[in-house]
Amino acid sequence: MTTPVGVLALQGAFARHIAVLEELGVEAVEVRRPEHLDDVGALVMPGGESTTMSMLLESSGLFDAIEARLDAAMPVFGTCAGLILLASDIADGRPDQRSFAALDISVRRNAYGRQVDSFETDLAVDVIGGMFPAVFIRAPGIEQVGADVDVLASVDGRPVLCRRDHVLAASFHPELSADGRLHRYFIDQVATGVS
Ligand code: GLN
Repeated sequence: MTTPVGVLALQGAFARHIAVLEELGVEAVEVRRPEHLDDVGALVMPGGESTTMSMLLESSGLFDAIEARLDAAMPVFGTCAGLILLASDIADGRPDQRSFAALDISVRRNAYGRQVDSFETDLAVDVIGGMFPAVFIRAPGIEQVGADVDVLASVDGRPVLCRRDHVLAASFHPELSADGRLHRYFIDQVATGVS
C-alpha cells in the first residue's frame, strides 16, 4: 500500500483517527476536497453524523471522487457513521442520504436504542488475536450481511465488525480505545490484501 492514509475530515471524529495512525507511525492526511485524495493509498471514514456527511460529500465534490477510488479498489475503513456510508442498504436514514454501497450489508441507524445508545464492551476479535475494548455511540446495527462479507466480531449475535476484501467496517469507534490494533490490522492486512 502507498501512504499516506487519508482520513475523511468533513465532520465528526476524524482527529482521533489521525492521532492513532500517527501513533502507529503511519502518515495521515485530512481529506476535505477531491484533490486531497490524489496521494492517498487508503481512506478512513470516521464516525459522526452520516446524514450531514452525505450532504457535505456532495457539496464538496468528494462523493464522486471517493466513489471512483472505491471502484478502483482503494482500501477503506468505515467506522460508525463511516460504516453507514459504506453500506448497500440503510434503514431509518434520511430519504436523500447517499451511500457508496461498497459493502453488502443492511444497517439500521441508531439501532441500539435510547437507553443504551452509548456503551463499551470487550469484543472477541480473532483477526487481532484477542479482545478489543469497543466504544459504541448511537451505533448503527448491522441487520444483514451478504454471502461474500466476513463477520469478524459480533455483540449478542449481531455483527459489529465486517470485511470484504479491501473494505473494513466497524459499527463502533475504534479510535476512542487506547488500542491501535484494528488500525494496524487495516493497514497491514486489509489494505495490502492479506486475508
Ligand atoms: N447515529 C449516527 C448516524 O446515523 C452515527 C453515530 C456515530 O457515528 N457515532 O450517522
